Amino acid sequence: MKLTLENNFEEIFAQGLKKHSEEQTLKTLGDRSLYVGSSDVGNCLKKVCFSKVYGEEHNTNQLLIFERGHLAETIIKNILLSQKIEFEEQKTIKGEDEFNFIKTHIDFYIPDEDLLIEVKSSNTLPDNPYNSWIQQVQLQMGIGKISKAKIICFDLNSGKYKVFENILFNDFIFQKCLERASKIYNFLQNKEEMPNGEITQLCAYCPFRDRCSEFCSQKAVVDKSMIDSIIDLKNKEADKKALEEQIKHQKKIVLDFCNNADVKKIVEKDLSLTVCNYPGRETIDIEKAKKILPQKLLDILVKKGEATQFLRIS
Ligand code: SF4
Repeated sequence: MKLTLENNFEEIFAQGLKKHSEEQTLKTLGDRSLYVGSSDVGNCLKKVCFSKVYGEEHNTNQLLIFERGHLAETIIKNILLSQKIEFEEQKTIKGEDEFNFIKTHIDFYIPDEDLLIEVKSSNTLPDNPYNSWIQQVQLQMGIGKISKAKIICFDLNSGKYKVFENILFNDFIFQKCLERASKIYNFLQNKEEMPNGEITQLCAYCPFRDRCSEFCSQKAVVDKSMIDSIIDLKNKEADKKALEEQIKHQKKIVLDFCNNADVKKIVEKDLSLTVCNYPGRETIDIEKAKKILPQKLLDILVKKGEATQFLRIS
């Protein structure tokens, strides 16, 4: 039966997005299982090997997130075009000699400035570029003999962006990246020496967790980036609490003033304040109700909410 947009929108949407994404990847990146790319070296090498051997399925949400990345690239492309800056898009460079298994696609290369631009899209703008981003551009600079790079990261939800400037070629990091790329390639050749899993917080999104010995082992070591992230969360929680206290105190002063002066509304240029009064919510005393109401009625009145998880950090 022919699918119609009227009756099968979701199905058409999911199938179309998947097909479009596969065609785009094949067109721009080719078959990624046959070479080592620059974004591979910054990831957990074990995950990269798993993904090249077994392939990776992406759900509609993940595919939409990838589309956001393409959108970010289109923004930069349009800016370069409008400013008449000469550029090469998705410039493909191959490694030489014993590294000819490395193939990298540079988002944008500006020949006049010998500069590469890597475009990222993220939910939050990090203070510093992630290690995986740095490794990616260092490998690109090394293989392409390019002297400098910029990484532009967009948060398209908030309309904000951040530019990580002046990333210069660093031979030490480049050599480390070559070593990592070789580990992936060696495994793909003989399927013998699987690189060790590198436990990070990104394991939470890894589709190969169930077959990863490091992750399944009780001895899984939490890496430094995870600890740093928890410390950062703890500090932010403390800042949030202090800020909430300040806001509560300030609101009380304003509300006291409004009540004492019998002011219900203040309007001043772009500012508008309204004193709102809500009656208290009606609630049921469950313990008392259980004693006097039949179970059938209780089943209607009392609905159990979904279980939630939360982090307590101290
Ligand atoms: S679970 Fe973590 S360590 Fe294991 S393969 Fe996936 S990303 Fe790597």
